[in-house]
Amino acid sequence: MSNDKKGGPANPPVNAAPSPSSPSSNFLRAIVEHDIASGDYAARTDVNGHPLPQVVTRFPPEPNGYLHIGHAKSICLNFGLARDYGGRCHLRFDDTNPTKEEQEYVDTIIDSVKWLGFDWHDGRASHLYYASDYFPTLYAIAEYLVGAGHAYVDSQTAEQMVANRGNFGEAGTDSPYRNRTPKESLDLLRRMKAGEFKDGEHVLRAKIDMASPNMNMRDPAIYRIRHAHHHRTGDEWCIYPMYDYTHPISDALEHITHSICTLEFQDHRPFYDWILERCAEANFFKRPLPHQYEFARLNLSFAITSKRKLLQLVEEKTVDGWDDPRMPTIVGIRRRGYTPESIRLFSERIGVAKADSWIDMGTLEGALRDDLDARAPRAAVVLQPLKLVIDNFPEDLSVECSAPVHPHLPEHGVRTFPISKNLWIEEEDFMEVASKGYFRLFPGNRVRLRYGYVVECTGCDKDATGKVIAVHCTYFPDSKSGSEGSANYKVKGNIHWVSAHHAVQAEVRLYDRLFLDPHPDAGGKVFMQALNPDSKKTVQAWMEPGLARALPEDRYQFERHGYFVADRIDSVPGKPVFNRIVTLKDSWAAK
Ligand code: ATP
Ligand code: MG
Repeated sequence: MSNDKKGGPANPPVNAAPSPSSPSSNFLRAIVEHDIASGDYAARTDVNGHPLPQVVTRFPPEPNGYLHIGHAKSICLNFGLARDYGGRCHLRFDDTNPTKEEQEYVDTIIDSVKWLGFDWHDGRASHLYYASDYFPTLYAIAEYLVGAGHAYVDSQTAEQMVANRGNFGEAGTDSPYRNRTPKESLDLLRRMKAGEFKDGEHVLRAKIDMASPNMNMRDPAIYRIRHAHHHRTGDEWCIYPMYDYTHPISDALEHITHSICTLEFQDHRPFYDWILERCAEANFFKRPLPHQYEFARLNLSFAITSKRKLLQLVEEKTVDGWDDPRMPTIVGIRRRGYTPESIRLFSERIGVAKADSWIDMGTLEGALRDDLDARAPRAAVVLQPLKLVIDNFPEDLSVECSAPVHPHLPEHGVRTFPISKNLWIEEEDFMEVASKGYFRLFPGNRVRLRYGYVVECTGCDKDATGKVIAVHCTYFPDSKSGSEGSANYKVKGNIHWVSAHHAVQAEVRLYDRLFLDPHPDAGGKVFMQALNPDSKKTVQAWMEPGLARALPEDRYQFERHGYFVADRIDSVPGKPVFNRIVTLKDSWAAK
């Protein structure tokens, strides 16, 4: 609606990941700490005389789409400030635009905020609000503003209004209706509300200054006629308040102290303050009033965060829906396997800036690696299988091997899996003719089968086209990992494997970045031309037997490969399906 913005800066430099900063280094924290120290918001009480916290923030999404990583940052920021300073954060649906909003979006937003680990309850009180619940109050204040001469009904056409608005450096022209008497405007406003006029016939405008250097102060619209069904108020209203009018009043009604929004609203702040001043003069609200602060929106490299462009990806079926694991939506990154902890860590690490910049995708991936490296159970999985036959291993023997669930957390115990004559190894772990520095399997070379035995490669079988279809080796029965004899074998290569007879087969979706261009939509670029054709590959992998028990959303480190999650929709116990969240190392860093 009123907030035309977006697009991201045009190709600014990619920021390196800022080092984890102490919380106090963020300018918003500094403001909050200053306000607490000065006691400005200390003595407030609610209508029942109960004391109010000194820090009350809000996250105010419009329920017109799915939330994305940028919103996640705003959620972490607002809820995080409230948490850290003994305050509270409200979840408020800014649902004043009837034609674009739906219950489906309300539900997914609620889910996403909860999933990120935040809560709008304060003790037993719920602080979940809808701007549409304030329609009666917003309207009452509008009538007051008209009566006090602070607002008037304008009857120019939309085109005339645009033409008379002027430009930067050029004053606007007063509307011929600007000097309507309060009585006349009030009568028209009531008739607008009663449904006597068509959309666009009249608009209620604040009466401020058509020559203001700030375009937002040139008599901004505060109510417009919209004969539309609203997802919560139905057909009760046919006039709807504008965002810039609704926002400060909603904040004041909820006793918000710090109203944090993105930079493009900086020029809207004078109107925010103007409305609240008029309301305070008339005793609608007590001082101190809420204050608006602006921070730089998150622009994430290799991603787009415009709701409209994300919708295009979904509608053109470039991705498999809003929760496609390649989407930067919260439902998408959740399905990809990101943990709420990693998103909060990411948000903390990138800090809060006052100027627009890009954050590298590697910073988000790094947060996930750091979170899961510390706690994810390990597993052996072969993604590109090649058969390895241990020729001297007895046909029906299987020997149990064991490995730590987590190398640094012995309390998590051990996992066991059998070794037998026929194994699966990675295709890339064998070369018929070794290149320089290659220490894995090639004829005559010895490697350790991780947690198992040392084997020596003896050769391979090929099909008619010359493709290697099986590798042969012999093993040393006294070389088993953990046994006394194992120390006698010094080898440079160490490869993972699974026993062909015991392994479970499962689908693994190897996701990668959706775009090849770090700034796919900057400077008006066509983001659809920057798609990564290899952003999704599906393989049938062989896994150590224990993985059959994986539950949806269980996360693992597949040794040597990266971090994977059992897909929360398609995976079922006994028949898991995995998504690659990220590889172990950042393969994009050098690009
Ligand atoms: P719209 O154009 O539909 O208003 P929006 O992205 O601003 O899109 P909102 O639902 O209005 O969506 O956003 C809710 C809150 O999230 C706002 O406070 C907004 O400032 C914040 N927000 C949105 N995008 C980002 C972003 N990229 N980085 C940080 N905060 C964001
Ligand atoms: Mg918005």
